Amino acid sequence: MPTQPRHIVVLGGGALGISTAAHLTRKGVDVTVVTEAELASGASGRSLSWLNSAGERSQEYHDFRLAGIARYRELKAEHPDADWLDFGGGVYWGSGPEAARVRHDAEVAKDYSSRLLDPQALAEVTPGLNAAAVNSTAVFNPEEGWVSLPHLIEHLAGQITEAGGRIVTNARRCAVLTEDGRAVGVRTDAGEEIRGDAVVVACGPQTPEVIAELGVRIEDASPLSMLVISEPFEVPEDVVLNTPRAAVRPNPGSTIAIDHDWYEDQIVTNEDGTYDIPRETVDELVAEAARLYAGQPEIRAAGWKIGLKPIPGDGEPVFGELEAVPGCYTVFTHSGATLALIGGELVANELVDGAKEEMLAQFRPERFAVTAAAAAT
Ligand SMILES: Cc1cc2nc3c(=O)[nH]c(=O)nc-3n(C[C@H](O)[C@H](O)[C@H](O)COP(=O)(O)OP(=O)(O)OC[C@H]3O[C@@H](n4cnc5c(N)ncnc54)[C@H](O)[C@@H]3O)c2cc1C
Repeated sequence: MPTQPRHIVVLGGGALGISTAAHLTRKGVDVTVVTEAELASGASGRSLSWLNSAGERSQEYHDFRLAGIARYRELKAEHPDADWLDFGGGVYWGSGPEAARVRHDAEVAKDYSSRLLDPQALAEVTPGLNAAAVNSTAVFNPEEGWVSLPHLIEHLAGQITEAGGRIVTNARRCAVLTEDGRAVGVRTDAGEEIRGDAVVVACGPQTPEVIAELGVRIEDASPLSMLVISEPFEVPEDVVLNTPRAAVRPNPGSTIAIDHDWYEDQIVTNEDGTYDIPRETVDELVAEAARLYAGQPEIRAAGWKIGLKPIPGDGEPVFGELEAVPGCYTVFTHSGATLALIGGELVANELVDGAKEEMLAQFRPERFAVTAAAAAT
């Protein structure tokens, strides 16, 4: 790639693509974002987007996520009135009595801010919760927060267009355009070619499929998932909740967002590629969420979205230029809400400054090629 790329094409209008494009424009690069439908129509439009590094993971992934949270804190300090980003902490309890302790021990070992509380002590910290629903010790992580990604995307998209960048929506399914083995742009479904000095593929759960067309394999473990948004009600507590039957976060407009995984096998894929789930399942999930709050408020679902949740085969993020296709940069990750700001920043640094970011060293796409080669021998 030329040392100072003048024009970069970003494929994918989710949190990662838009953040990368916004960071590129801050570095003076001319950017075109091209995306299938509207902005935030993919995983970013139906994400729990809990900002965290809770539980167990590699030290490198943990450090990456902590840097991600720190970037959101900076954003919140710049925009204290943003009602789509907040840091009210996170609460976790599991189905067995030991789950919280095991998680807490792993967190403390990494110096992650974590308190192990019995239900009574938890009630003092989070009086808006229904103490009777907490049947074991719980972990309270006071530094955690949440973001509404559609709002973040709107915020960053405004910066891109203000800086003269272009955002092409409803381009339908696009492919990476190559010449002599190098990525030189994208081809839209209608056959239009949008050329640039480099291409960033940030297609969420579709990333492995887009990259496979270039002959590069990235293992994919993306499951189907659902996010429910409630109707407005007086939300009694502003923590993010991770509990055995419902994960919940506050959402703008006095609403909450709810997800979990116990109903994944009830999702039906229709012939036209759309998804359905029984209405009773949605209502059951909402009822599980209502049980978590003091006074057990009456909560109704205003809407729900179903689709793939991006998860690489080994669970770790994928960030890097493809060695096999110079000029093609790939971004594919599970915790993409937590990583959106830091990820976009580091990708933009690598693309513009040419130097490899140490924080991404562990997450290169080539690790899957190595796995595939080992499996073949
Ligand atoms: C239910 C759920 C809960 C989650 N919870 C959390 C959480 O608590 N914390 C956390 O950090 N993360 C969480 N995540 C993950 C996080 O939301 C995602 O990692 C992140 O939103 C991915 O952003 P993205 O930009 O990579 O992909 P997306 O948001 O999917 O954006 C990709 C875009 O590319 C477009 N596209 C795809 N293929 C093509 C193509 N060929 N041509 C043109 N356009 C294309 C799509 O239409 C889409 O708009 C969750 C995700 C889900 C679904």
